[in-house]
Amino acid sequence: MIVARTLEELRAACSDLPRPLGLVPTMGYLHDGHLSLVAAASRDCPAVGVSIFVNPSQFGPGEDYESYPRDEERDLKLLRSAAVDVVWLPQVVDLYPETFQTWVEVEEVTRRLEGAHRPGHFRGVTTIVAKLFHAFGPQRAYFGQKDAQQLVVIRRMVADLSFPLEVVSCPTVREPDGLALSSRNSYLDERERAAATVLIRALRSAVRAHKGGVRQADKLRERMEEVLAEQPLAKVEYVSIADPVTLEELEGEVDTALLSMAVYFGSTRLIDNMIIGDVSLGG
Ligand code: AMP
Repeated sequence: MIVARTLEELRAACSDLPRPLGLVPTMGYLHDGHLSLVAAASRDCPAVGVSIFVNPSQFGPGEDYESYPRDEERDLKLLRSAAVDVVWLPQVVDLYPETFQTWVEVEEVTRRLEGAHRPGHFRGVTTIVAKLFHAFGPQRAYFGQKDAQQLVVIRRMVADLSFPLEVVSCPTVREPDGLALSSRNSYLDERERAAATVLIRALRSAVRAHKGGVRQADKLRERMEEVLAEQPLAKVEYVSIADPVTLEELEGEVDTALLSMAVYFGSTRLIDNMIIGDVSLGG
């Protein structure tokens, strides 16, 4: 496995790799969710690249950029075991030098859900992902359904800017009790960790209700809110039943929908989602 730190090292490494090259962008502190993306890339592609970069421009003021968990040595060990071909660990000053002033911004689909509560977040995400696409030149890029809106936004960017690559969506990997794996789960204390299972209960309750014939978006939203309200440690930021392609909030009867939520447990903000119906995020 080549460990590249500069753009020049990365480009030299990538030019020797067979194609298609599959890219898995991450912020590190890897868990089985990240590794499932690497496994999917390995199945599809003769060469796999991973980036590890905690991207400052996607964190808002007061968010957890400084405290975001980092463990480079452990990450590299995991990626070696996963037979990754090249890892890029760029420096902040190299990606965002003082002269930096060019941003990639997707409009409509970034205004809702996460975008409504984290202003500037997706501008940071799309800018860094565009830079990663230019740096690696992958033919396929792998993203988790865990960050559903991110997938929709990146699909939009790839289509609008004609990046010559395919975006692949991978299912959310969960703990045995249903909590979605996330680097941020490491912030939770024991009580908060136990309380956080309410997220999957709320999602499953709405999915079950829909299967049982409850098709009104309002009723499904209420169902999720009721389950979340049973857990006093859960402070809800939003609960949404949205169109999986446009991310517009749905009213009336729904056949397909993205069920999603952001909930605080103490100072830790967790997101989770599920999809109703046979539909792919972002179309
Ligand atoms: P992050 O390091 O949090 O930026 O995540 C890097 C990639 O891993 C993103 O495409 C995430 O959607 C994906 N990811 C994070 N958690 C999970 C999970 N539990 N299951 C599947 N993919 C995940």
